[in-house]
Amino acid sequence: MPRRFELPGGLPFGFARFLSWVSLVLILATSIVMSVVITDSARNTMFRKQQEFASLLAENLNHQIYRRFTLPTLVGFGRIALRQPVQYERLDQLVQSVIHGLQVSRVRIYDHGKIVSYSTDRADLGRTDLAGPEVTVALRDEDPSYTVDAGISFWQALFTPRLEPGSFILRTTYPLRVENRLGRIDDDDDGPIMGVLEMTQDITNDTRSIIAFQWLIIGTASLSSLVLFGMLLVFIRRAERVMAERMQEKQRLERELHQHEKLAGMGRVVASIAHEIRNPLGIIRSSAELLLKRPSSSDPVTARILEAIYDEAKRLSQTVNDFLDYARPRQPRQDPVEADGVLDRVLGFLEGELARREVTVARETEPGITISGDGDLLYRAFYNIMVNALQAMDGPGSITVTSRRDGDAAELAFRDSGPGFDPANRERLLDPFFTTKDDGTGLGLPIVNSIITSHGGSLRIDNAPEGGAVVYVRLPLRAE
Ligand code: ADP
Repeated sequence: MPRRFELPGGLPFGFARFLSWVSLVLILATSIVMSVVITDSARNTMFRKQQEFASLLAENLNHQIYRRFTLPTLVGFGRIALRQPVQYERLDQLVQSVIHGLQVSRVRIYDHGKIVSYSTDRADLGRTDLAGPEVTVALRDEDPSYTVDAGISFWQALFTPRLEPGSFILRTTYPLRVENRLGRIDDDDDGPIMGVLEMTQDITNDTRSIIAFQWLIIGTASLSSLVLFGMLLVFIRRAERVMAERMQEKQRLERELHQHEKLAGMGRVVASIAHEIRNPLGIIRSSAELLLKRPSSSDPVTARILEAIYDEAKRLSQTVNDFLDYARPRQPRQDPVEADGVLDRVLGFLEGELARREVTVARETEPGITISGDGDLLYRAFYNIMVNALQAMDGPGSITVTSRRDGDAAELAFRDSGPGFDPANRERLLDPFFTTKDDGTGLGLPIVNSIITSHGGSLRIDNAPEGGAVVYVRLPLRAE
C-alpha cells in the first residue's frame, strides 16, 4: 500500500485532497481552453461576416462608380480626369451616397501609378506614399485582400479595460474593374482594372463585444468549476469523516475481539485446571473430615492440623466453584420465577447466620412480581448480594429488601447499614478478582452481574444518602 498520502490512521486523506486540487486545476484549464476555442471561433465568424459585408460593399461601389461615374464621364468629357473639380465632386457625391450610414471611415482610389486619385479625406490626394503592398497585389489583377490594422493584439485588448475607437480597423483592398456587358464581374470574365479601391471600417465595437463574450465564458466556466470544486471538497470531507469513523470503529472492534479471544482462551485453560482441582480437593476435604471423627484425632495438635486442612480445603473449593460459575456462565432457563419466592429461599437459608450476627431484615416487597428466568441462578445472585451485605456490616445491623414494578421491569433493592462502597473502588467492583477482603475471591459481584445481564437486566451499585450500600437489580417482567 502506498504510504505517501496516508495519515497514521491509514486513511488516504492527503490523496483525496490531492485529487480534488488536481480536478480543480483540470476543470479550470479545460474551461479556459474551451473559452479560448469558443471565442476564437466567434472572432473568426465575426471577421468572416465583416469581410463578406466589405466585399459586397466594394463590389457595389465598383458597380456604382462604373455605371454612374465612369461611363457618363467618358461620354460627357471624353476622358476621366479627377483633377477637374467637376469630375471629382461627382465621384465624391456618388461615393458618399453609397457608403452613407454604413460605418465606413475612409475610401481611397489609387490609379495605376499607386497615386491617390480620390479620397474621402482630401489631404490624401496626390500622395504616392500611402499605397501598401496590398495595392500592388490588387493592381496585379489578384483577389481582394482584407487586412486588420490593430494598435494592440487581441490578447492585449482582452486586458485593456477601455478600447479606444479605431483600435481595430478592417482594410479592404479591391481592384476596380471595367464591367462586362451584362454588368457582372466574375472570375471567368474579368474586365480590365481601372484602379484600386481601398476602404477602411472601424471594427473596434465588434471586437469589444467579442472580448466581453470571452470574459463572460471565462467567468461562467470559472464560477461553475469553483462550485464543482466546492461540492467535491464537501463530498471528500464527508467521506473522510465517515472513513475515519469507520476505521476507528473497526480498530476498536478488532481490539475488543482480540481481547475477548485472549480472555476466552485463558478462561478455557484456567477453567479446565480449576475443574481438575475440584475433585482432589473434595477428596482432601472429606478425608480430613473423616480423620477428625476418628478416636486417634483426640490428640489436640493433630485435631488442629486436621481442622486447618478441612477449613482451607473448604474455602478453596468455594473459590474454585465461584470461579467456575463465573468462567462458564450457564444459559438461563426461561421459567416463570416469582421474585418473592427466590427471596424467601435466600432469607430462609441465611436465617441462622442472620440471627447469629444479630442482623434484622426488613422486607418491603410487592407480591406477585414474576420474572422469566432461571430460579437457581437468581437465587445465587441474591444470595451473593446478601452475603456481601452481611460481611460489610461485620456485626449487628439491618438489611432492607424492596421490590416494585417499574414499567415493564421489576426493580429490587438491597440496602444495608454497613459502611457503603468505597468511592475509590467504584470503577473496579465488577472486575473479576477485585476484593478488599482477606479471604474474598472477588468473584461475588461479577457473578451477580453476569447472571443479571444474562436475564436481560442490569445491576447498579450505589450508596444510600442515609449511609450504607444499595445494590439495585433491574429485571424484565415476564410478559403475561
Ligand atoms: P468478595 O466478596 O469476594 O470481596 P465481591 O465481588 O462480592 O468479592 O465484592 C467485591 C468488593 O466489593 C468487596 O471486596 C467489597 O469491598 C465491596 N463490596 C461488596 N458488597 C459490598 C457492600 N454491601 N458494602 C460495602 N462494600 C461492598
